[in-house]
Amino acid sequence: MARKRDSQRTRVYRAEWVLRDQLKTRGESKDGLWEWDSLVALAHASWEDYSGGLDLPKLTLNTRRRNWSVYKHGFHEIELAPTMCCPVVMLHELTHASMGTELYRGSIQAHGPEFVRTFLDRIDAKLGFAAGQTYRRGLTANRVRIAR
Ligand SMILES: [Zn+2]
Repeated sequence: MARKRDSQRTRVYRAEWVLRDQLKTRGESKDGLWEWDSLVALAHASWEDYSGGLDLPKLTLNTRRRNWSVYKHGFHEIELAPTMCCPVVMLHELTHASMGTELYRGSIQAHGPEFVRTFLDRIDAKLGFAAGQTYRRGLTANRVRIAR
């Protein structure tokens, strides 16, 4: 089945960088990156509320790649390179994983308003409201549409 075009993708990424930059400069961890075990713990803590009854995806640290993050729908697996071990990236891919069914039925865009709504709720819940506000500013600045 043909998937919908993904018209917000680039703008969603740009908005995300606003938050990732802020987390870097907050200095809680080097380059804003987390240890893999901490990211796995975040995924477990975050999944229940958004899973829609699906199991947590398999989580794989791919040390052979750089700047790589992906949710593989066919395998229900998230892969991150060590350079992408950022909580924002993990929450982004978990959001794809939790919306996989609708997405791959072709009823929504990969980075459409529904994706942004769920992702933003996750950021508020797991990284704190201040982080959510920063992301909201990035979304507004990049004219990203958010579902209610
Ligand atoms: Zn994405």
